[in-house]
Parts: sequence; C-alpha cells; structure tokens
Amino acid sequence: MSYIDPHIHMVSRTTDDYKRMALAGCTMISEPAFWAGFDRSGPEGFRDYFRQLTQFERNRARQYGIEHLCWLCINAKEAENVSLAREVIAMIPEFLDDPSVLGIGEIGLNKNTRNEATVFLDHLELAAKTRELILVHTPHLADKYQGTRMILDMLREDSRIVPERVCIDHVEEHTIRLALDAGHWVGMTLYPITKCTPARAADMVETFGAERVMVNSAGDWGHSDPLAVPEFIFEMRSRGHEEALIQKVVFDNPLAFFSQCARFQFTPRDEALSEA
Ligand SMILES: [Zn+2]
Repeated sequence: MSYIDPHIHMVSRTTDDYKRMALAGCTMISEPAFWAGFDRSGPEGFRDYFRQLTQFERNRARQYGIEHLCWLCINAKEAENVSLAREVIAMIPEFLDDPSVLGIGEIGLNKNTRNEATVFLDHLELAAKTRELILVHTPHLADKYQGTRMILDMLREDSRIVPERVCIDHVEEHTIRLALDAGHWVGMTLYPITKCTPARAADMVETFGAERVMVNSAGDWGHSDPLAVPEFIFEMRSRGHEEALIQKVVFDNPLAFFSQCARFQFTPRDEALSEA
C-alpha cells in the first residue's frame, strides 16, 4: 500500500532510511521546520535551514521516488527569543513561492509560555495574510492538555483562520476530540515509547473514526521509527480493518489536507509513469 508520512524530520535521518521507507510503500512525506537540537546563532541559520528543506532534502528524497514537501517556521523552543523569531518570520515569505512548501509549521507551544504564545500569534498573522495552511505542534506529556486548549483558543479567536486549513499534531486520547470538534485535522504521532503507539492510534480510529485523521512517525534524531506508519498499517490489518479505511488514514487524508495548498500538485504514480 502506498502511504504518506505527513510529519518526519528527514534532515536527521540517513539515506538508508529513505530506501527502507520507499521499500515499505512511502511515496510522499512532509517535513515541518523544527528545533535543530541546538539554538541557531541568528536568522541566517534559518535561511540555510529553509534552503536545506526546500532544495537539498527534496532532491535526496527524489532519488528514492519519494515526493518531499515541507513547512516553514521558527519552532516553539527558539520562540523564547522573540526578536529572533520576528526576523525569521519576516524571512519566510521569500520561500512561499517554492512549490515544495505546504505552509507554516510546525508552530505551537512547548512550555506554554507568554513568549511562545506571542510568536504563535505572529505566525498566525503571517498565515492569515498569505493564506497558508498551518501545522501545529502540541506540547508533550504534562503540558499537552493545557497547551492544546491555549492553541485552540488562539486559533478560534482569529476569524481569518479557517479550521479545516489547520492540522493539530501529536494528539492523544485526551486531546483528539477537542481538535476534531473545533473543525481541524489531527495528526497522531507514532513513537516507540512516548506519544502514541500504533495500537493506541488504531484504538483512536476505532473510537473517533477516520474523518480528518492522519498518522505520522515524527521521526527525528531521537528514539523514533521512520517506519512507524507501516507499523500502523500492519496493526490495522491484523485487526481485520478494510484496506479502504486504512488507505484513507495513511494516504487519502494527508493528500486531501495538502491539496488545500494552492501550490500543491499531485500526479498519481501510474500517470507519472505513463508520461515518462
Ligand atoms: Zn516534529
């Protein structure tokens, strides 16, 4: 089955991972901008990073038949430095003509601080002005419920933000309903230990349905699994779910969400091969 991993940080993965993902059926990924593991020393570090995402990483993925798309922002961890964040946000429009850019993300909160909220609102302003899709990171563990509530409130208070053009990522059992009821898409992140396992994600699809629901690996340099989406496919099959339902979650839904981006173009693989 062809699948899309809508959240994975390939800058921290090897080309061997690309090959294993391609062998497992991955045909498209989207890579949100995130923390580099260290704080950048200035805005130029972000310009280089955005070039890495839109050029180098896209070409690396293409060698394995994988379409690479990305999201741009300054992540919540570095948003404590508001003046740096504003310089980075001012730079983002330089990249918004690039066909590989899907929108603004992964913005959000980390420790739910005032500065993080300020920078989140600045990103919303940019997204509203430029009509970009939004991908939202929700905080981990103890901060998740409160942070998700804060994020949903900020999104609701801006009447220019269209709920179905926003994905709330890293949802878990206690936050998925909040995000779906607000009209947003949701991403369930499949991590080997923290966040959500493939079995818990399958439970949530059984409980909440598959409308506006996606799964991702959020693979990065930490303990994570770039083949987490195929693990979810395996779990769903082992429970006897129909292929059409599984395909909806791992392929049709991310494609429908991405298709709201005016720059996004998708050629089904069969057509691409017959044209070649
Ligand atoms: Zn991420």
